[in-house]
Amino acid sequence: MAMFRTESVEEFYQIGEDIGSGQFSEVKKVTEKSTGKDYAGKFIRKRRSTASRRGVKREDIVREVSILEELSHDNIISLHDAFELQKEVVLILELVTGGELFHYLAEEDHVNEEVAAQFVKKILEALKHMHDRNICHLDLKPENIMLLNRNTQNIMLIDFGLSRRIKPGEDIRDIMGTAEFVAPEIINFEPLSLNTDMWAIGVITYILLSGLSPFLGDDQQETYENVTAINYSFEDDDFFSSTSELAKDFIDHLLLKDPRKRATVDQCLSHPWIMPRSKKQKVQRQTSHLKLENLRKFNAKKRWKQSMKVVSICNKLSKNARLRSASTTVDVNGLPIDSMHLGPVDKNSSPQTKDIK
Ligand code: ATP
Repeated sequence: MAMFRTESVEEFYQIGEDIGSGQFSEVKKVTEKSTGKDYAGKFIRKRRSTASRRGVKREDIVREVSILEELSHDNIISLHDAFELQKEVVLILELVTGGELFHYLAEEDHVNEEVAAQFVKKILEALKHMHDRNICHLDLKPENIMLLNRNTQNIMLIDFGLSRRIKPGEDIRDIMGTAEFVAPEIINFEPLSLNTDMWAIGVITYILLSGLSPFLGDDQQETYENVTAINYSFEDDDFFSSTSELAKDFIDHLLLKDPRKRATVDQCLSHPWIMPRSKKQKVQRQTSHLKLENLRKFNAKKRWKQSMKVVSICNKLSKNARLRSASTTVDVNGLPIDSMHLGPVDKNSSPQTKDIK
C-alpha cells in the first residue's frame, strides 16, 4: 500500500531546476538535504473534484506509486520517497541524466543493429520484470525510454502513470496512450493484456531502425485507421534498405492484430535478432545499420510537435484568461469552473486517457 509523507518537501529536499514536464506534472531536479544526493522530483497536480478533468485522480497516483514500489530492476526508475500535499503529490525518483535513447542514438555517426538490439534487449528485460508480476506499462514510447547517464548507456523506463496490474479475469479497457503507439485493442475498446505492451515494442523498434513511424497519419483519426488496418510495410528503401530480415521478422511477430498471436516478452528475448544463434545471424546484425539521418528527422518532428502543443496550450490559457475576465462562475480559488480544460481532445476518451499526440 502506497504511503505518503505529509511534511513539506522543502524541509527535506532543495528544489532545483526544471528537467521535464507532463500533462499534469512538472519534474524538477531536487537534492536531498541529509545526503546531498540528487533526485528527480515529479510534482503531480491532484484532481480537485470528480467533475474536473484537470489533474490526476488520487487513486491513479496511488496506483503509480504502488506499482513503482513493487518494481525493482536496473532498467526501471526507482522511487525513493513520496509526499502528499493538499494540491499535489511529489514523487522523489531516481534521477536519469542521459536523455532519451532516441536522442542519444541520433547523435552517433553509425549504429549497427547489434547495438540497437542490445538496447531493445534491455527494454525487454525491464518489461519482463513487469510482466512477470502481471504489470503492464501501457505507455511505452520513445519519450519514456531514457538513459541513466551517458557513460553507462543503461536504459531506464520511466512514467508508470498509465501502468496497471492485470488480474486474471479482470477486464480492463479504459486506457489510452499516444496514438502512434497504441495497440488495435485499445482503439477497438477491447480488453488489454500484457501483450498490449508488445505492440508498442514493435512500433518502437520499427522507428528505431528506420526513423519512420509506422502508423502515423496526417491526423489522429488517420493514425487510428492505420493501426486498426495494421497498415505498415518495409517496402520503402529510403527507410529500410539497410534493415536485416531478422529485424523485420522480429517486428512482424509484434505488429499483429490479435494480441494472443503477438510474441510475448520471453519469446522476444529468445528471438534470433535479440539472441542470434548462428554466425550468419550475428553477421546479419553487424552488417545492418540504423537510418540515423531519418531518426534525426523523427526526433526533430517530435520536438516541433511538442512546441506546437505548448503554443496551443498558451493560446488556450490566454483565451481562458479573456473568458475569465468576462466570467461570473469561479471556484474557491478564483478560477473559472472548468474553463481551463487542457485534457485530451478526444471527446470519447475516459478519465484515464492521457494526452493523444
Ligand atoms: P505525460 O503526461 O507526458 O505522460 P507524466 O506527467 O506522466 O508525463 P513523466 O513522463 O513521468 O510525466 O515525466 C515528464 C518528463 O520529465 C519526462 O518526459 C522526462 O523528460 C522527465 N523525467 C521524468 N522522470 C524523470 C527522472 N526520473 N529523471 C529525469 N527526468 C525525468
